[in-house]
Amino acid sequence: MAAAPFDAQGCLSPQGFAQISAAPPGKAPPDLAAHLAGCMRCQRRLLATALPPSGPRRERPPMWRTALVIVVCLGLVLLAMALMHVLNTPAP
Ligand SMILES: [Zn+2]
Repeated sequence: MAAAPFDAQGCLSPQGFAQISAAPPGKAPPDLAAHLAGCMRCQRRLLATALPPSGPRRERPPMWRTALVIVVCLGLVLLAMALMHVLNTPAP
């Protein structure tokens, strides 16, 4: 491994991450592991690279379903207004 495991800022370089991920669990190079244990930035970067890329976004719901939800909401508003009218009407 000729590449330096640390970059200019003292954090793990891509080569350093490669060494850590290539090592079996518990057998990572001690200097790299020690830095990773104490450096929040490198932990975040390691987690970000370890996570699978976010999958395809969920498809938009069909238009008719959106329209149905809007119609149902409007119906509930109209129902509430009608009930308020009934409640405001004085009893005969
Ligand atoms: Zn670091």
